[in-house]
Amino acid sequence: MIIVMRKEASDETIQSTVETVESMGFKTHVIVGTERTVIAAIGDDRKGDQEILESSPFVEKVLPILAPYKIASRETRSDPTVIHVRDLVIGGGDIGLIAGPCSVESEEQILESARLVKEAGAKALRGGAFKPRSSPYSFQGMKEDGLKLLATAREATGLAVVTEVMAPDQVPLVAKYADVLQIGARNMQNYNLLQAAGETRLPVLLKRGLAATIEEFLLAAEYILDQGNSQVILCERGIRTFETHTRFTLPLATVPYLHEKTHLPVVVDPSHGTGLATLVPSMCLASVACGCDGLIVEVHPDPQHSVSDASQTVSPLTLTEIVESCRKVAVAVGKRMG
Ligand code: PEP
Ligand code: MN
Repeated sequence: MIIVMRKEASDETIQSTVETVESMGFKTHVIVGTERTVIAAIGDDRKGDQEILESSPFVEKVLPILAPYKIASRETRSDPTVIHVRDLVIGGGDIGLIAGPCSVESEEQILESARLVKEAGAKALRGGAFKPRSSPYSFQGMKEDGLKLLATAREATGLAVVTEVMAPDQVPLVAKYADVLQIGARNMQNYNLLQAAGETRLPVLLKRGLAATIEEFLLAAEYILDQGNSQVILCERGIRTFETHTRFTLPLATVPYLHEKTHLPVVVDPSHGTGLATLVPSMCLASVACGCDGLIVEVHPDPQHSVSDASQTVSPLTLTEIVESCRKVAVAVGKRMG
């Protein structure tokens, strides 16, 4: 249930309400909004509890949370969640650009990528050091050496580093180097991994599973939120359908739909969503037009020679053009692309 505190409720009365709610056996999440504070109480709602809480002079009302995803729901928090990490801002009217190669390949490649994507307007550098590949014989990533190179690139450019973590026991290592932990599509329902990422206080970029419904996607986010990590970024990266002209099908209606259901920001990945470099610029524009809070784009100094995902990787020049046109669309929909 949601306990909506009165505007005039002091910090002490909010704290004592939290204690009362916890003594009833609920887990609490306090959400401070611009207007008022609400307490999300997660647990078994019993009739009597609601009445006791409603009788407090500091409580305005008590409402059930209807959505199965409680903390992620708009019912719990109406203000959008905004993620700030270094110069990257995602949400609340800011469209953050994350760009870089699919994989970290070498020092020269990642430093050059970082320099070029920054010049084009990106605020964060992506690059996988641990790679979830369909085949065990494909390049699996540079692992910790790759993480170190990402940290070097951050030092050189100031860009925030977004990189994937594939297993719960890798979280401490990846968290040592990353500014944002990426959880890949194939791991969206790896609940131990979601919880381990939730135990950190780093923002988590959660990619939608290849065949996950929106409800499953939001429940996966809930695993992270439930550990006390409020910094979740949802990423639509395309789903598997009968269609074969693109690598995946990129359903952009997800973006406004998610905005109706959740306060969490939504980023679109047109690179994996299409699998085709020629389609990436248009789908970036479409994503901005339908209200995304950020884009994640695969870019390589020499796209044809990317070790992974070459066919969907764009050049730094194309990224510059994407940013130029996306900025205009952003203004048209009342947003900013920094
Ligand atoms: C990636 O970002 O390189 C990646 C592997 O993404 P996804 O998990 O969406 O396939
Ligand atoms: Mn990739």
